Amino acid sequence: MESLLDLSIDALQTEMALLGAPKYTAKQIWGWMYQKQVTTYDQMSNIKKSIREALAAKYTLLPFSEHYFIGDDDDLAIKYIFKIDDHNSVEAVVLSEKDYKTLCISSQCGCPVDCKFCLTGVAGFKRNLTVGEIVGQLLVTMSEGHPITHIVFMGMGEPLLNYDNVIAAYKRFTEESSFNLSGRKITISTSGYIRNIEQLITDDIHLNLAFSVGSANPLIRESIMPIEKRNPIVKVARLLKQYLKLHNRKLTLEYTLLKGVNDTKDQIIELGNLAQYLDAKVNLINLNPHERIPFSPVDNKVLTGFKNLLLKSGVRATIRYTKGQEIVAACGQLGESILTPKTA
Ligand code: SF4
Repeated sequence: MESLLDLSIDALQTEMALLGAPKYTAKQIWGWMYQKQVTTYDQMSNIKKSIREALAAKYTLLPFSEHYFIGDDDDLAIKYIFKIDDHNSVEAVVLSEKDYKTLCISSQCGCPVDCKFCLTGVAGFKRNLTVGEIVGQLLVTMSEGHPITHIVFMGMGEPLLNYDNVIAAYKRFTEESSFNLSGRKITISTSGYIRNIEQLITDDIHLNLAFSVGSANPLIRESIMPIEKRNPIVKVARLLKQYLKLHNRKLTLEYTLLKGVNDTKDQIIELGNLAQYLDAKVNLINLNPHERIPFSPVDNKVLTGFKNLLLKSGVRATIRYTKGQEIVAACGQLGESILTPKTA
């Protein structure tokens, strides 16, 4: 059954007209879902029972048959697992900072991109998430007491490969009549699909982007990110530069360090050159080890050394210390629920 969250406001208005409900009912229901964040029809107390029942016969409210989380309120990372159909789940992670909460959200079930250092890539690709399945992750976590203000599309999947649904979800997050989050607090992470970045430019969509570099050296990049073959980093960089010129949004370069692969001084210098060309900040991420990933992290001393090298050359650089390793919720670790599904 389709979820009510998959409907646009226009589609909901059409449904209400078909049910003979007053015109304002669609807006009331919309407000219940996105402003008051209710997760059952029964909670929509000012909507006639007959309308609620008619809707419930046609649409589920949430697009998930069940969900659960691992972690508790004191944890800096809480992993949510959402069952989307009989065989598949997706994951999202609530990350607590000092003053705010970020939701790391999934856009696909699994991922077709196959970055060799990422567990989601190992899990393989199942399918794109619907708009409802994307916004549902925010609705559920907010309804369960997490006042999310920031969203990063860095969970499972390559967001730009589910372009239409991700952009529709982004609009739902930012629209005043929906979640009303600031667009400046939403970041989409991409491994760099040329065609889809071109689409962002054509559609005049302004997003904070994070670009997963892997390595600024094309040969090494191709060995760990097969996407390089058809989407060469040189072309991606030119396109990103063009995209950034069009508006004042942020670009971050994400760099996952793999011992003995992309951790030479020369490669860090190449990364610094790329950051300077794009006027981007660099996030260094040490690999989160997992038995299914054939790489190891670098020593912390090496990591700090690279950060200092970048800073010395005038590049803004931070180390992203990952949260949630113990619950397999850290960067590149989402996908465990597909590889080892929970049995009842
Ligand atoms: S890093 Fe991102 S794009 Fe690459 S396989 Fe993992 S989820 Fe997909």
